[in-house]
Amino acid sequence: MIITDDHMHIYNHLRLKALEEFKKAGGTHVLLVSLLSKHYDVRPETGKEFKRVFDCHINTVEKANKIVRAYAVLAVHPAEITILGGRLGFRRAAEVMMEAIDLAGEYVEEGKAIAIKSGRPHYKVDGKIWQLSNEVMQHAFEIAKDVGCAVQLHTESYTRDGIEEIARMADKAGLKRERVVKHFSPPRVKDFEEVGIFPSVIAMGDNVLKAAKQGARFTVETDYIDDAKRPGAVLGPKTVPRKVKELLKHGFNEDFIHKICVENIERIYGVDVSGF
Ligand SMILES: [Zn+2]
Repeated sequence: MIITDDHMHIYNHLRLKALEEFKKAGGTHVLLVSLLSKHYDVRPETGKEFKRVFDCHINTVEKANKIVRAYAVLAVHPAEITILGGRLGFRRAAEVMMEAIDLAGEYVEEGKAIAIKSGRPHYKVDGKIWQLSNEVMQHAFEIAKDVGCAVQLHTESYTRDGIEEIARMADKAGLKRERVVKHFSPPRVKDFEEVGIFPSVIAMGDNVLKAAKQGARFTVETDYIDDAKRPGAVLGPKTVPRKVKELLKHGFNEDFIHKICVENIERIYGVDVSGF
């Protein structure tokens, strides 16, 4: 049985051992998302300097592939606007982020990554930063459309209005709504289905079961951060396999799991999951 975690990080705690644990618990496929530039000791002044971040991440993903099937997602995290903005000014920070997204798009074209991660801050920012963040996210949609990939989004907490607004931005770029994935989603499968954006449900508490009761149009993630300072955050690496297997006890069959862990991943990201 294929079990996919749609959003996990490898950083400085368990590192690849996290994936051994994931595998032991029944996990087979994972999307590994790069972290903020500061996590790689990079202080970029241009978008091109994200090359070090991305190369480091691709290298980790290559090693991860010896344990499970791992795919690279290249992130230009929305919080970069605050981090880079303090040094470079917010307008320049947004430009650097857009250049970095261009670079991420090149990696996708080369087949080194399957998606870009973008979004807008989940914390309160002033109107100007919000506007710039939206421009960056819009740019990510345009690049994704050009190179034919999906975009994972890190955004403010779910609101129906919020995802509708984001869906319209994807439309403007000509990017299919189902190729936009809201990472850390609540189990609102029906709402997301109506709007068209794909929810990557955070596997906390009974979220996975709650999601499943509304249908199979979702993916599942831990957002495991692998930070030695926050060892179990957000959820441990075994969580997705455990929660997905629990669905079997609640009367969902393996076909259902195949939908969320294989068919949805293939449809969103355009990868051949079952072939591995
Ligand atoms: Zn994350």
